[in-house]
Amino acid sequence: MIIAIDGPAGSGKSTTAKLVGSKMNFLYIDTGAMYRAMTVKAELAGVPFDDRAGVCSLLDDTVIEQTIDTKSGDTRTYLDGRDVSYEIRTPEISKGVTSVCEIDEVRVKLVSLQREMGKKGNVILDGRDIGTVVFPDADLKFFMVADINIRAERRLAELKEKGIALTFEDVRNDIERRDLRDSSRSNSPLRPAQDAVLIDTGGLTVEEQAEIIIGYIKKKL
Ligand code: C5P
Repeated sequence: MIIAIDGPAGSGKSTTAKLVGSKMNFLYIDTGAMYRAMTVKAELAGVPFDDRAGVCSLLDDTVIEQTIDTKSGDTRTYLDGRDVSYEIRTPEISKGVTSVCEIDEVRVKLVSLQREMGKKGNVILDGRDIGTVVFPDADLKFFMVADINIRAERRLAELKEKGIALTFEDVRNDIERRDLRDSSRSNSPLRPAQDAVLIDTGGLTVEEQAEIIIGYIKKKL
């Protein structure tokens, strides 16, 4: 079974998908982390994030992998065999990822990787284009939304936990900027699939969000 969760930044996709994955024994795939890892690759190579030819020249020589830490349930993201789970969350990478992910060739490579990972059995993926482009035939599709201030508060808390200190304003501005670019790009824009279930996570706990999705999964099973 393939479960697609899309939505804007901070809407609760990854925390919910992670919890559903651990409760239902589904493999959780964080596609945003993959675009972020490609952005780290460009940074390490000294290639400007909007240099299409430069970023494309790195693609063949890039290996991006993801595993689940069995103790914490967290995803670990590897770039060319090195754990970059911390680097991918820094403000520099959050800023650059919107340019890197707009490069068509980057999307072709990562979408194909995501489809490969989808063959591993029961998977739950979160991103921006999972239900519309990566798995248009997904068994279940969800689109999560929440008020911008709630989303910024959540993201701020997550980053703090990871040891990245930013102000509320910084986080809110970054989310607003990314949402606008993600929704207005021509290739795979952020938008709900026609058959997606809309979940407003504003007044819900992560547990409640997970239970909604698990309810749909159980009905399908
Ligand atoms: O999910 P996360 O916020 O970590 O994603 C980082 C960025 O990667 C998004 O703002 C978006 O620009 C891009 N992305 C994408 N397609 C996906 C997942 C993420 O374009 N499937």
